[in-house]
Amino acid sequence: MASFQSDDQIQSDHTSIASNTEHAPVNDRNDNNTANLPMTLRDEKRSDLNAALIGESEADLHKYLVGCRKNPGHTQFIPIDTFTMKHLPEGNQDDDLYELIKVTADLTVRVGVTIASPDRPEFWPETTQPYPFYNMMNRSNLRIGSGRVWRVSQYQDGLSTSGSTHWGYTKCWCRKCEASESPSNVWWEFDVEAAAHVVFDDIEASQTTLRLFYDRNDSPVVNLDKVRVYNVNIEHDTCPMKSVTCDQNVGRKLNELCLHCKDIWEKVWNKYSKSRDEQRLTFLVAHPHGCSKQVSVGRWKDKIQVDEDRYKFTYTTCTCPGSSGAAVFCLGYRGWWGLNQCLHSGSLKSKINYSGVSSDF
Ligand SMILES: [Zn+2]
Ligand SMILES: [Zn+2]
Repeated sequence: MASFQSDDQIQSDHTSIASNTEHAPVNDRNDNNTANLPMTLRDEKRSDLNAALIGESEADLHKYLVGCRKNPGHTQFIPIDTFTMKHLPEGNQDDDLYELIKVTADLTVRVGVTIASPDRPEFWPETTQPYPFYNMMNRSNLRIGSGRVWRVSQYQDGLSTSGSTHWGYTKCWCRKCEASESPSNVWWEFDVEAAAHVVFDDIEASQTTLRLFYDRNDSPVVNLDKVRVYNVNIEHDTCPMKSVTCDQNVGRKLNELCLHCKDIWEKVWNKYSKSRDEQRLTFLVAHPHGCSKQVSVGRWKDKIQVDEDRYKFTYTTCTCPGSSGAAVFCLGYRGWWGLNQCLHSGSLKSKINYSGVSSDF
């Protein structure tokens, strides 16, 4: 079992960090500079500077699952393969919402990273709160978060199915094709959202693997191991990524799921847009502790305006280390482009969770 820091300011989410690292930011004592955090986040320090999970190996992930102090027993997490309509609150047990959660789960990926960039900052922007995994570039660890595929594009000979020209490639750029003398001329690219504190830059992306369709402990391993990041925003804690495959089974399946998700999301949004601030219903699907997909359903607490059209949410919907980067669906809110929801970022000492920043609500 992991050893715990005795400092009572440190919450359970630090356990795995404290047990495996000497230099990790496990402590936010002496931190008086929270002026730039909005509202409740300003008043209450983060207990969970780092909701991503780190371990030496896959075996560690399961060990931390058993020893979890944040959500002992994990009774609020519903494994996706046993999730039914009855898990939804009374009054919200409708087919469309159930279907949206199922398809969101299908698009959820486990994000695994094995290195930390030397360019990680020491502190969160404009605060003295330590930034996760700063100064850890010499350590080799498996770090885990969650993410979601939200768009798929298919290319052939450098042209997309909608007729646009690819910015840089005429052949597939997956790892297999990169090393091949006959790379595939047909490929699929995926837009994936994750948290910046999980995948920080292209250095880390080069050692990042996305595990797809990890629904049960015995699900076959389907990995995407070629990942690039673009427009990482540390303040918003967002990391848009692109990944690629020429495996048509994977490409076509994810494409169909994205189209289905868009349809069903629109229906659910229509249902909840008027009652969103009364119902405050939220759900997320993640890989807590790096294990198979789990659904959490709950309510959001505060909507925090960050600037003119950007917001964060706080919520009671259950998360654990490894949930970082999971899309937090606040029903009835649009998010950027309708499909981009805010992403789980961390937790406060009061055990309230908070998201990164999303815009255009
Ligand atoms: Zn846990
Ligand atoms: Zn390829």
